[in-house]
Amino acid sequence: MSPNKAQNAGKSPLNNPTQKPRPPIVVVLGHVDHGKTTLLDYIRKTKIAEREAGGITQSIGAYEIEKNGQKITFIDTPGHEAFTKMRQRGAHVADIGILVVSADDGVKPQTEEAIEILKNSNTPFIVAINKIDKNNADIERTKQDLLKHSVLLEGFGGNISWHPISAKQGEGVDELLDLVILMWQLENLTYNPDSPAKGFILETEIDSRRGNLVSVVVTEGTLKAGDDITTPTACGKIKVLENFLGKKVDQLFPSSPALVTGFESLPSIGQVFTAGKLELEERPQMELAVKPKNIPAIDNKENQNETNVILKADVSGSLEALSQIIASMEIEGKKFKIVFEGVGEITDSDVKLATTTNSFVIGFNTKVSKSADNLARGQNVRIVTSEIIYKIIEALEEAIKAEEKEEQGPTMEVLAIFSQKNKTQLIGGKILSGIFTLNQKINIRRGEEALGSGRVLSLQQKKVTVKKVSEGEFGMIIESPVTVQVGDVIMIEYAK
Ligand code: GDP
Repeated sequence: MSPNKAQNAGKSPLNNPTQKPRPPIVVVLGHVDHGKTTLLDYIRKTKIAEREAGGITQSIGAYEIEKNGQKITFIDTPGHEAFTKMRQRGAHVADIGILVVSADDGVKPQTEEAIEILKNSNTPFIVAINKIDKNNADIERTKQDLLKHSVLLEGFGGNISWHPISAKQGEGVDELLDLVILMWQLENLTYNPDSPAKGFILETEIDSRRGNLVSVVVTEGTLKAGDDITTPTACGKIKVLENFLGKKVDQLFPSSPALVTGFESLPSIGQVFTAGKLELEERPQMELAVKPKNIPAIDNKENQNETNVILKADVSGSLEALSQIIASMEIEGKKFKIVFEGVGEITDSDVKLATTTNSFVIGFNTKVSKSADNLARGQNVRIVTSEIIYKIIEALEEAIKAEEKEEQGPTMEVLAIFSQKNKTQLIGGKILSGIFTLNQKINIRRGEEALGSGRVLSLQQKKVTVKKVSEGEFGMIIESPVTVQVGDVIMIEYAK
């Protein structure tokens, strides 16, 4: 049950005069490409009066529509799979979910994930079977598919409302919204206009002109310009209060989206806020908005399988998504350790921290200040920036491979095996890079696979025993438990 429902249980506006009904907050979930954005765009375009829609200069992550005099708030967060966390929170903060399933594709992994999220958060939902205009749309098969995943539709063994739609052409969307309103009527969502405002943080951004911009959804009380506003990690005083159309207002009621300025630092997405005239002692204990994550010792090279990174992004939502992806990534057997993350452009202090912690700096949708750029060049700090996550991943892969090459010791390729007795093996090969010398520790690789290590016992070139070989073909006796084969690559391991 959502926190609001828990609070509101049993407080019907009829038997509690301080309570007023509030509109539903709706979230759209489903697999990538099943039409979430198209549906949200269609509803935004057709259900917000044109005169008003013109005022929308920038999406704040939610919008409000009116259908037959009834307001509905839609959460409009990015549908990219990288934003799972935000979606999870989206489902948690919403009163009603719309599960979009494409009729030509059926239930897919992210549909399953969405079903899980909706069920775990006890969010009532309706199903939109989308893309019915397509030739290969198969509504019956989609219903069967949902049944297999324990989504029991009305008329199909259960009571979950559903409607076939074409988000692209708009067919069925009105009926879908009617279903949302029907569901709302059963939910009995209420608020107390006299209580301090509460709600949750939807998106945050630093604007060079206006400072900290924070979009929120109000779920309780009345939010007023001039109010103190706090979350567990940030606080401020609302300087300007705007509705989702970008229009300055004095107050807003649940379940309206709002944009506020005046936060002293950026709160985190999904946090709950409280606003009103708060006495100092009423404010929750503040923490640092962005905490450095356990900055490692200078030039930390202890763990060769970890690469240090510093993350910067334009808004905390993308920072959170980026952080999640980077933390779960592995390139060439290397994982990433985030030593610091923050919102805003890449500055001198990020580059300085990168120098002392031997980190890469990664910027998502953010700029590098001129002086930071100069500093990075001087200090040889690598900065990777892009507006597209997969480009960041590609650039990181390249950078790590380049670094591996720099770190790689002398290498040879095995061309012949002359004798193999126990661990002692006489092999022939050619130098690929560097110089081979006696008694060095070697590592043996077959393709991408590291097979094990050994030691150089003797070297021969042109039938003469030598102490080092720097080019061409040569013979080598090695000691290793790995039975070497033609085509293997042997690399000298640098002493660490
Ligand atoms: P999302 O990833 O779930 O947000 O999916 P999008 O809304 O971006 O849609 C993915 C693709 O499917 C786009 O090319 C849309 O134009 C297309 N699409 C979405 N809804 C419909 C529909 O009802 N009919 C058809 N034919 N295409 C659709």
